[in-house]
Amino acid sequence: PSAMREVILEVPKVNWEDVGGQKEVKTQLMEAVEWPQKHQDAFRRIGTRPPTGVLMFGPPGCSKTLMARAVASEAGLNFLAVKGPELFSKWVGESEKAVRSLFAKARANAPSIIFFDEIDGLAVIRGKESDGVSVADRVMSQLLVELDGLHQRVNVTVIAATNRPDKIDSALLRPGRFDRLLYVGPPNETDREDIFRIHLRKIPYSSNVSIRDLACLTEGCTGADISLICRQAAVAALEESLDATEITMNI
Ligand code: ATP
Repeated sequence: PSAMREVILEVPKVNWEDVGGQKEVKTQLMEAVEWPQKHQDAFRRIGTRPPTGVLMFGPPGCSKTLMARAVASEAGLNFLAVKGPELFSKWVGESEKAVRSLFAKARANAPSIIFFDEIDGLAVIRGKESDGVSVADRVMSQLLVELDGLHQRVNVTVIAATNRPDKIDSALLRPGRFDRLLYVGPPNETDREDIFRIHLRKIPYSSNVSIRDLACLTEGCTGADISLICRQAAVAALEESLDATEITMNI
């Protein structure tokens, strides 16, 4: 039995232009992925090595996953995504094996990115086994071994995401592991304008639709909320008339 459903390997097709706002995070991600590969000599000269892993944290729906895919796509890297809780299996030994084979697959497909979504999920499962070591502990130790082993291998980047940074095992945050922390926060008004524009690229809209007003009216909305609003508007237009050719603003 396999501990993990097959990890999908892909080069995502998401561009930076598909992500509204988050300018600083985009730059940091690009650096994290490109510098270790392009500027090895510079790091050596200055007597250090580039950060190993990146941890993105922040509320749900604010583009953590989207940006992980975008950086892979923009840098032309293979992308392996796994959710923290998926690494667990009830079969003894299978979970560690899953972690090992994930990293092996990433190395075999380098240059690549491993994306751990919901990395906090590694800490929640606590079922003690007969030898007193929980599956969570085993997965964690294997993960640390793999992360520490990446030091010399500059062509695999690990990116993790969480909504709950407080729940992350502090061992993961030590230098040489996930040592670059990036906050991915909710969009401000200008960002929301960008995000509306992105999600209305394929939806024809009436001249009465003001993207600026929409951005102003959606204080507190995330990118995911805006995406939903746009899709709902398109469906609403069709509900009004199946001949609809555009969405209109109605407030
Ligand atoms: P979670 O913690 O729930 O996984 P997340 O931060 O990873 O959330 P995403 O999955 O990246 O969020 O975002 C969900 C969807 O919301 C994206 O696929 C996209 O359609 C939309 N979205 C979110 N933020 C943005 C943004 N800044 N620009 C454009 N679209 C966005």
